[in-house]
Amino acid sequence: MHKLFFRILSDVSKRTFSTKISVPVAKEDVKLPTVLTDLFGRNHTYLRISLTEKCNLRCKYCMPAEGVKLTENSKLLTTDEVLKIAELFVKEGVTKIRLTGGEPTIRRDLVDIIYNLKKIDGLQIVAMTTNGLVLTKQLVSLQKAGLDILNVSLDTLKPERYEVMARRKGWQRVMMGIDLAFQLGYNPVKINCVMMKDFNDDEICDFVELTRDKNFDVRFIEYMPFTGNKWDVKKMVSYKDMVNKIRQKWPDFSPLENNPNDTSKAWKVPGYEGQIGFITSMSDHFCGSCNRLRITADGNLKVCLFGNTEVSLRDAIRNKCSDDDLTALISAAVKRKKKQHAGMMNISQMANRPMILIGG
Ligand code: SAM
Ligand code: SF4
Repeated sequence: MHKLFFRILSDVSKRTFSTKISVPVAKEDVKLPTVLTDLFGRNHTYLRISLTEKCNLRCKYCMPAEGVKLTENSKLLTTDEVLKIAELFVKEGVTKIRLTGGEPTIRRDLVDIIYNLKKIDGLQIVAMTTNGLVLTKQLVSLQKAGLDILNVSLDTLKPERYEVMARRKGWQRVMMGIDLAFQLGYNPVKINCVMMKDFNDDEICDFVELTRDKNFDVRFIEYMPFTGNKWDVKKMVSYKDMVNKIRQKWPDFSPLENNPNDTSKAWKVPGYEGQIGFITSMSDHFCGSCNRLRITADGNLKVCLFGNTEVSLRDAIRNKCSDDDLTALISAAVKRKKKQHAGMMNISQMANRPMILIGG
């Protein structure tokens, strides 16, 4: 196993070397490719780390009804391994890390992880995506540890509907968590809302209404296919349909300027405090400007949310790889990143992990 691993690694390092000379660069802008630059010139500065596969909710679009087979604890990244991986990526240019899962607030060492991430030189932003269930208990400590940005997932403003979607109670607690986030000065509070036809698409204008007096940044996410989530194209509400629906009520609802790597398309009702974002992974992919990489809770580097190729950094670390060899392994994986994902229909037929095991 040990030998095999190093054989793969040396093979990978050779490939890294050979790919370096074939990276297309404009003559007037000759830049040597970095470890985190892929063959299409995309530089990856944003790392999403899944801290756990477990969750205290069972959202229908994320978790298969029969549950998921959890990786045994000894195979999940330890606190030190999470920090080691973070340090390696920051050294190579990552400036933003988002903690996700599963549900990251389940992890007992969360405060410790955030506190230590914030000590890494060069890391500018530590963000977290959470279902918000335990924010009233944890957010003060998380903020003290240094949590900069908070996304709370909320798909409905109706408590009884929440229970159907999440297969658990908890809507009031999430709302209290969001309220606390405002009180603690998170500005904006970002809300992730997966829109599904005939489930919550009748609430789209209610979510827009939230932005009237408060700096909510509501992100409508197109429903995406993952193994086990019974994805059906008929349940997907596209970006275009969402905009049309909102414009029926607010004809002057308008797009805002986006930053180059934004995955969300920002819009606003003029005069409203907050704004709306659309995450259009399905109808208008943003692969061309993708700057994200993902680490699963069991320590695999996943270069594309919709790709099923993974490389185990956990095994490499546990096999006592040097930092240089780890960096070569990461670089080779990044260089294998495809230009774009396989297209909406192909994705739905492709084997991939369930979302809960990838980390959103
Ligand atoms: N448990 C946390 C939460 O719910 O915010 C973090 C993990 S969750 C996998 C991250 C994000 O992925 C959530 O905002 C969730 O709504 C989104 N998500 C999960 N499954 C999805 C799907 N099939 N399509 C679109 N978004 C999805
Ligand atoms: Fe849990 Fe988040 Fe998935 Fe819902 S979306 S089941 S809260 S991981």
